[in-house]
Amino acid sequence: MAEENVKNQELMDKLVSLCKRRGFVFPSSEIYGGINGFWDYGPYGARMKRAIENLWWHEMVETRDNVEGLDSTIICHPRVWKASGHLDQFSDLMTDCRNCKSRYRVDQMEDPTTCPNCGSKDLTEPREFNLMMKTFVGPVFDEEHAAYLRAETCQPIFVDFHSVRVATRQKIPFGIAQIGKAFRNEINPRNFTFRSREFTQMEMEFFCEEAQGMEFFEYWKEQRINYYRNKLKFKDDFFRIYVHEKLAHYAKAAIDIEVKFPFGWGELEGVHHRGTWDLSRHSEFSGEDLSYMDHDNHRKFMPTVIETSVGLDRTMLALLSAAYDEEKAATAKEGMEEDTRIVMHLPPLVAPIQVAVLPQSKKLKESAYALYKEIDRHFRAEYDDTGSIGKRYRRQDEIGTPYCICYDFESGNDNCVTVRDRDTMLQDRVNVTQLRDYLEKKIEA
Ligand code: ATP
Repeated sequence: MAEENVKNQELMDKLVSLCKRRGFVFPSSEIYGGINGFWDYGPYGARMKRAIENLWWHEMVETRDNVEGLDSTIICHPRVWKASGHLDQFSDLMTDCRNCKSRYRVDQMEDPTTCPNCGSKDLTEPREFNLMMKTFVGPVFDEEHAAYLRAETCQPIFVDFHSVRVATRQKIPFGIAQIGKAFRNEINPRNFTFRSREFTQMEMEFFCEEAQGMEFFEYWKEQRINYYRNKLKFKDDFFRIYVHEKLAHYAKAAIDIEVKFPFGWGELEGVHHRGTWDLSRHSEFSGEDLSYMDHDNHRKFMPTVIETSVGLDRTMLALLSAAYDEEKAATAKEGMEEDTRIVMHLPPLVAPIQVAVLPQSKKLKESAYALYKEIDRHFRAEYDDTGSIGKRYRRQDEIGTPYCICYDFESGNDNCVTVRDRDTMLQDRVNVTQLRDYLEKKIEA
């Protein structure tokens, strides 16, 4: 186990370093020493993040007639967080080490009487710490003008339920989805982007009749598992389902989809049957009746909610951890030592660059660049003509580009290019007229 932990720590260190070196993720405000729990996504990271977001949106909203999208504000009326329970209950127990001044979440400590950092037993009494980030709206900084950055993206979905339903003329069952930033003043941000203070959530709330609640809970659970298996290519031993036995008093069922991160199993997504709790609370606190009138059956009722809730940053971290690989590669020339190929086996659907166009020589730039511009209209593409072709392949392997196109001295004559597969390193000769079709089939596979 200890050995595995070292290996895993090593993997984590390598990932963090690759993310920084190649512009995926780096600490926010780094030239000022960084700010704990905040991360910036660099050019490849931003592309990949956007690709995951688009894929989720496509799967959850665009391909479904009964799920609508929402883009709400980050700051809501403070009563929203009173109704949701966040202002009173969204807190963790924390303790400080008087010796080394480290601060911990009590529920995350193996032994809550000993400091994991220095071993001291001199810890403060555990005390409640609310995770909501506070700000002030308007020029007066007093409690009356206090507001909060949203701690989750789903509350505005409940608040806007009525407006969305009326505007879209949706009938139950239907869902509302939202992607956006959420903020939590985590006591101990850690494990790279896994636990951050600012992060992005992708959430969907599905409203149905109570009698159909469990059926839809099972449906969404299966949909989400299929998404990880088929779209994000999670292997069976990389994720597992944790079934909650202790449920919130209003909940009927809950599972987490957990992933094997380098630091251990961690929650990636929750699928929860939340009963009628959320809409009832917002009805009570706002005075607006959010119940649903079923005109076909002349019935009025409070809809039951099934929620799917996933972190975008955790999705990306999961993908990067699963993708990282080092392979011993024999160099072309005989007698030379083996070298190591760092390769990210990212799923083509979300790889930051899907296709790279690499001319065999700079002399071929004009035609190769024209081909790149054409490819770039359909795929996330990049052009690179600096350095040897071998080095350029390696650079693309390291950022997880699944297909590299080499435009060579023959291409002008036979209108064909060589397509190299990142994982097998096998090459196909493909006619330029077939290229788009060829790549589409591979990327969608
Ligand atoms: P945890 O137990 O890990 O703190 P949670 O159960 O509080 O998570 P939820 O409130 O269910 O998380 O949020 C839904 C999703 O949002 C999580 O599954 C996770 O992917 C993401 N998420 C929550 N907190 C963070 C965070 N601090 N940093 C990054 N992602 C987060």
